[in-house]
Amino acid sequence: MRPVIFASKCLGFENCRWNGIMLHSDIIELLRPYVDFIVSCPEMEIGLGVPRSPIRVVENTKGVFLLQPSTGLDLTGKMEVFSLKLIEDLLNKGIDAFILKDASPSCGYKNVKRYAKAEQKNTTAKSSGLFGKKILDSFPFSAVEDEGRLTNFTLREVFLTRLFTTAAFREIKLSGKLKDLVSFQAKNKLLFLAYNEKSMRKLGKIAANSNKKQTGEIYNDYAEEFSNVFKNPAKPGAAINVLQHAFGYFSKEISKEEKDHYLQQLAKYKKGTLPLSAVTLLTMAYITRFKLSYLKEQTFFAPYPESLVSISDSGRGRDSYR
Ligand code: SF4
Repeated sequence: MRPVIFASKCLGFENCRWNGIMLHSDIIELLRPYVDFIVSCPEMEIGLGVPRSPIRVVENTKGVFLLQPSTGLDLTGKMEVFSLKLIEDLLNKGIDAFILKDASPSCGYKNVKRYAKAEQKNTTAKSSGLFGKKILDSFPFSAVEDEGRLTNFTLREVFLTRLFTTAAFREIKLSGKLKDLVSFQAKNKLLFLAYNEKSMRKLGKIAANSNKKQTGEIYNDYAEEFSNVFKNPAKPGAAINVLQHAFGYFSKEISKEEKDHYLQQLAKYKKGTLPLSAVTLLTMAYITRFKLSYLKEQTFFAPYPESLVSISDSGRGRDSYR
């Protein structure tokens, strides 16, 4: 199943920014061959042209508004109507993740400047844009990120892992077969263990269906718990346990230099200077070399296509995870 992502249109799809330009986004370009994009520009959709005067989010005792200072227009109602219609459409189509434009008063989901008055220069707070907020509220269990945060390798890794695992789950959910769910759980066991052991155990119990529930009910229970798995990045301790477990399968077969190199990479991941994907890729090479079929089946070692692994890192957002 190709993942489906909603993206802000100005991120490489159309010259629709207020100043008539389009932005380049590495993550969008990286993902193009692997996902289907649904794109939209909320500001154009509510009738603002290109170029247009900037708009801003104003928060006062009466509420939160989307205003255009140069014209005095209040665009709050139009944005609300547009957002609800698009969200309904996305819910019907099935969507796996969102990449929204950072800091936009419409699309931004965090880091958006708020003002007390339309004409005021000083900001009062940072929060979400109007459309971004609606997305957060309507898709609480989906991966929602902005292109700025996705320049950080840890955030990008969680996003890609969650994206491809969610798409795979969407596919088996469509099949509606219990045996597919059992197989999904088995293949993702180590991945879930690294991200959220508690959820991994709950999911195992649901898939085992000891309470003899109907398949539809099992899938609903599973979907609910599945949405908790990627709430936080993989815990280094848990991921290292999984990697050490895997290392035990081939450590006796490799040279001292290879062992030292492997353990050095593991130490770098533990220190936070190397992404998990760099170590899982290395492990996957040994899994392939020694034909370790149980480990080869585990998505933990290749949760998304290898060509999407990139260790470039801006450091941005490193300490904040939604
Ligand atoms: S951030 Fe959103 S509203 Fe602004 S130009 Fe990009 S797509 Fe349009």
